Amino acid sequence: MAAVVAAHRDELVELDRVIGDGDHGENLRRGFAAAVSTVDGSGPVLRQVATLLISKVGGAAGPLYGTGFLRAAGAVEGRPLDGFVVASALAAALEGVVALGKAAVGDKTMVDALAPAVAAAESAAASGGSVAAVLEAAAVAAAEGAASTVPLVARKGRAAYLGARSAGHLDPGARSTALVLRAFADAAR
Ligand code: ADP
Ligand code: MG
Ligand code: MG
Repeated sequence: MAAVVAAHRDELVELDRVIGDGDHGENLRRGFAAAVSTVDGSGPVLRQVATLLISKVGGAAGPLYGTGFLRAAGAVEGRPLDGFVVASALAAALEGVVALGKAAVGDKTMVDALAPAVAAAESAAASGGSVAAVLEAAAVAAAEGAASTVPLVARKGRAAYLGARSAGHLDPGARSTALVLRAFADAAR
């Protein structure tokens, strides 16, 4: 995940430069790079990553991502990993992001990638999908969800200040969410 975010750092910076303040790619690159170095086997990985992202990554995305990872950690810890547990972790992440950021689908945020990913993951789990199959379904849906943000007018976050001028551009947080879920799916495969 850290490698994928680093490889797309400039792309995310550029997306955020157009409808935000241009720091999204660097915020996430720095955050995930630091998160990797805190994962030392002394605790659950998702929880260690969450704590780092919440405490060290600025902007809107740091606390939102961190809360997502923290809720996901709570959903998986102590449970044997299967498709259902992964889907419930993604659902918990979405709940955390929405509780903190109050964005709905259509507001042109990361929720537009994460919400369809959760729906696809839950449906893949319900039809008996493995961990890898559930994450693959989530990644595909997240990519489609991110692409759906292009025509939208932003109603949350910095891009909302642009009003109608935010339409016609991909949301950086939705794009990064799709990248992160793609990295999860590829790792699981
Ligand atoms: P900042 O806007 O503070 O510079 P970033 O650039 O790191 O933060 O992150 C911007 C992204 O955060 C947006 O593209 C959007 O996807 C996401 N975002 C902003 N506000 C919200 C919110 N209230 N709920 C969900 N996601 C949000
Ligand atoms: Mg920004
Ligand atoms: Mg910023």
